[in-house]
Amino acid sequence: MPTLADLKRATLAAIDQRKAEVIGIARAVLENPETGFTEQKTSRLVQETLRAWGVPFQAGLALTGVKGAVQGKAGPGPAVAIIGELDSLRVPDHPHHDEATGAAHACGHHCQVASMLGALAGLLTPSVLESLSGRIVPFAVPAEEFIEVERRLRLREEGRLEFMGGKQELLRLGAFDDVDMAMLCHTSTDRVKLAVGGTSNGHVVKFVQYSGKGAHAGGSPHLGINALNAAAFALSAINAIRETFREQDTVRVHGILTRGGEAVSAVPSRVTLEWRVRSGNLEALVDNSQRVDRCFKAGALAVGASVTITNIPGYLPLLNAPLLQETFLQNAVALVGRGAVAVRPPEHNGGGSTDMGDLSQVMPVIHPYCGGAQGTAHGNDYLIRDYETAVVVPAKAMAMTVIDLLAEGATRARQVLSNSRPPMSMEQYVAFQRARAEVVRYDGAKG
Ligand SMILES: [Zn+2]
Ligand SMILES: [Zn+2]
Repeated sequence: MPTLADLKRATLAAIDQRKAEVIGIARAVLENPETGFTEQKTSRLVQETLRAWGVPFQAGLALTGVKGAVQGKAGPGPAVAIIGELDSLRVPDHPHHDEATGAAHACGHHCQVASMLGALAGLLTPSVLESLSGRIVPFAVPAEEFIEVERRLRLREEGRLEFMGGKQELLRLGAFDDVDMAMLCHTSTDRVKLAVGGTSNGHVVKFVQYSGKGAHAGGSPHLGINALNAAAFALSAINAIRETFREQDTVRVHGILTRGGEAVSAVPSRVTLEWRVRSGNLEALVDNSQRVDRCFKAGALAVGASVTITNIPGYLPLLNAPLLQETFLQNAVALVGRGAVAVRPPEHNGGGSTDMGDLSQVMPVIHPYCGGAQGTAHGNDYLIRDYETAVVVPAKAMAMTVIDLLAEGATRARQVLSNSRPPMSMEQYVAFQRARAEVVRYDGAKG
């Protein structure tokens, strides 16, 4: 019987052997960036790799998701997902942007796709698989970045999706029903090689449409209703309530104007915004979301325009599962040394949001970070300076964690399950998110 150390040694050697191939996958995804729910090329690359490696999979889940299945040969046991996010952002001045779409990997998700496959490459070693009980689920998931809200609303109207984040929609579709726990390693600009812990903000996503009345901007502005002025007033109102946000709620309120009018010679009659309200706890989220809606109404009231606010259920705060995290941490330390690993307290909230948070509401998950990036996350200078740290190190740490979970009769994985109390069932999650969706209409002309 090989020991855990033997299994890990064989796995790490196999990952090292595939290192060039796996880093090549990261670079290929970097050069073909695709935003959420359009990740066709990236999805195909994952499918081709799984096919070449003899791993059965389902494709087209939530439009572009790819879910593999590798059965351990030592018997039944829990299913552990290793996740990689397929999508990019839109950063048209990023050096690796797509000319046609402006898409660019300014959040390092191309490295996640590769580290997921890298971990899998190690675990496919026959002597390792023979010692694992349960199932490994390599899962390439779409649309973590909650962007292009208007386009996703159209997909919803067409009945092609209901929830507008990738893991949210996969949860709704039941694609996680046969998964027991999950992990994903995200790149960062941290000086350390691996980091565990912390949480993230939940959010509400808003699509805001102002309707006014067009008129000649020079000859008859008094006959128009200026929807752009309504929006501008609303933004001032939002800035006026910022002093009420409490530090402990890690509130972030921000957005973009996606349509400001049609022609400079006319009073703008149709103006749209995509907006976001974030917070680390759900009470503050609900409260601040309602206050921001009031600000949008205030803009409509001021000029007599009407406003429609489509509130879309966004992400939920992240809960890292303690025993799963401890298992990853031990392997991280063994791999790169204690000095290269950071441990953050559970309340450490960087302000961002992820739909791993949604997954963490229904099953044990971890969302550790790896180093290797430089620049500013979501900025035009976010680049991977060290692919070994951004791809190979997390692949190894996740593969070692899977060995601890599923070797020796999957005792550790079962402990993780019995120790964890996710706040919701899958059904409760879907019902909870559905209940958050609402459309608020307000006619400022009627006051
Ligand atoms: Zn991001
Ligand atoms: Zn990201």
